Amino acid sequence: YINGELIASTSGRTSPVFNPATGEKTHVVSLATAEETTQAIAAAKAAFPAWSLTSPLKRARIMFRFKELVEANVDELAELISREHGKILSDAKGEMVRGLEVVEFACGIPHLVKGEHSMNVGGGVDSWSQMMPLGVCAGVVPFNFPAMVPMWMFPVALATGNTFILKPSEKVPGAMMRMAELLTEAGLPKGVFNIVNGDRDAVDVLLTHPDVEAISFVGSTPVAEYIYNRGCQHGKRVQALGGAKNHMVIMPDADMEAAANALMGAAYGAAGERCMAISVAVPVGEGTAERLLDALTPKVEALRVGPGIVEGQENEMGALISEQHQNKVSGYIDQGVAEGAKLLIDGRGLTIPGHEKGFFIGGTLFDHVTPNMSIYKEEIFGPVLAICRVESFKDAVDLINNHEYGNGTALYTRDGKAAREFAQHIQVGMVGINVPVPVPMAFHSFGGWKRSLFGPLHMHGPDGVRFYTRMKMITSRWNDHDPSQSVFSMPTMK
Ligand code: NAD
Repeated sequence: YINGELIASTSGRTSPVFNPATGEKTHVVSLATAEETTQAIAAAKAAFPAWSLTSPLKRARIMFRFKELVEANVDELAELISREHGKILSDAKGEMVRGLEVVEFACGIPHLVKGEHSMNVGGGVDSWSQMMPLGVCAGVVPFNFPAMVPMWMFPVALATGNTFILKPSEKVPGAMMRMAELLTEAGLPKGVFNIVNGDRDAVDVLLTHPDVEAISFVGSTPVAEYIYNRGCQHGKRVQALGGAKNHMVIMPDADMEAAANALMGAAYGAAGERCMAISVAVPVGEGTAERLLDALTPKVEALRVGPGIVEGQENEMGALISEQHQNKVSGYIDQGVAEGAKLLIDGRGLTIPGHEKGFFIGGTLFDHVTPNMSIYKEEIFGPVLAICRVESFKDAVDLINNHEYGNGTALYTRDGKAAREFAQHIQVGMVGINVPVPVPMAFHSFGGWKRSLFGPLHMHGPDGVRFYTRMKMITSRWNDHDPSQSVFSMPTMK
């Protein structure tokens, strides 16, 4: 989608798109060539001068219209997401709502890019700052939130006056292609927002082309690190969000029923394919672990797994993204057993009647998982919850702080002091206290620590505005100063 038009790729290379609930290949997506990616950069560059000079108020009004159009088409978009991704329909709608909140935030852009002004910093001298757009920005996104993660990026980038190229995940390209049409319908000029479907070939052009100013990335840690290093080497501003292993600590005084219910949604929602999914439960004390298991086990056994779109009562968990990923998650369960963890509930080999070829894995629960096991150290990105027992609150904090990832974490307790200490000492970017998935609202910023994020700035909210703008300071003198003498010392206030 370049310069407001659909362009057929000439690469001859394609990638299959599946319906994970049936296992059926429904589409193929063409993978762009380097030349086609360069064409998109040229279109975005050509559109930048006029768009960057468009009043922020007008840009915000386009965002308002876009929001209305997405809302009017939300059912169609959610269905598209569910068919390509496999998540249940209500979850796909939830993703749309969370993405739209960033559009709502971007509607306030005139206020957010106001600079600061100081009058009379010197005799007759005034000084002010302006938040200026960067130019052509690009976004490279993962499969797990086909619409929401792109919406973490482009609404803020466009509203601040940049032009944008999105490289969607080749596994789920449909939703963003439809959203591009809605952006045009909302009044966005041609070339301001472009989509390049593709793989590493397209990404490498975006990372190295001199006309791209900034790259936002969300995906796995090895790719995030590559994007960060390569983009920085080529002089670009980069924010690269990576993988995660999120722990929930359950204290002896926690409301166990609330904690178990929270764990169910946080571990098994979207089949665990969320960067904020809880994949490790950390009960403090043996008694807590036993009570947690009593509350949790029957719920995992009763988990309703099946297609994301059904008549009547909705399932709780859908299919995984691909057969390859299904095999990878099954392989992790094999490894967990081989490494000596106790497999309490095994989701391998689940078949759903009528959907025998779907990429399903049932809710899986391991107990007695230890920090040296691969199922503890690595991100599985599937419906596999590990219980890692510890003896004390301090052990729980140390366990989390020693993990290489630091995206999200949660503590369940009734003890305010423990909660305060946890929030203060935990080395993680997003912390929930009795909140299992502490995803910040659009007007705050989203991002992890350690190997969950490369670069200083988080996404959307105030950091999003900082990422997509650079500050210009203007110092101006309008008075009757005497210009007849040169000054060779540092100018100071007289
Ligand atoms: P991925 O890293 O495989 O792919 C992400 C994007 O990068 C895709 O668009 C893909 O086409 C592209 N890509 C893949 N390999 C590349 C390469 N070698 N060079 C250049 N581009 C490449 O991730 P995924 O499997 O689509 O998504 C799942 C991952 O995303 C998980 O690790 C999850 O934790 C992470 N994620 C993180 C966050 C966060 O906020 N930190 C949010 C969502 C997902």
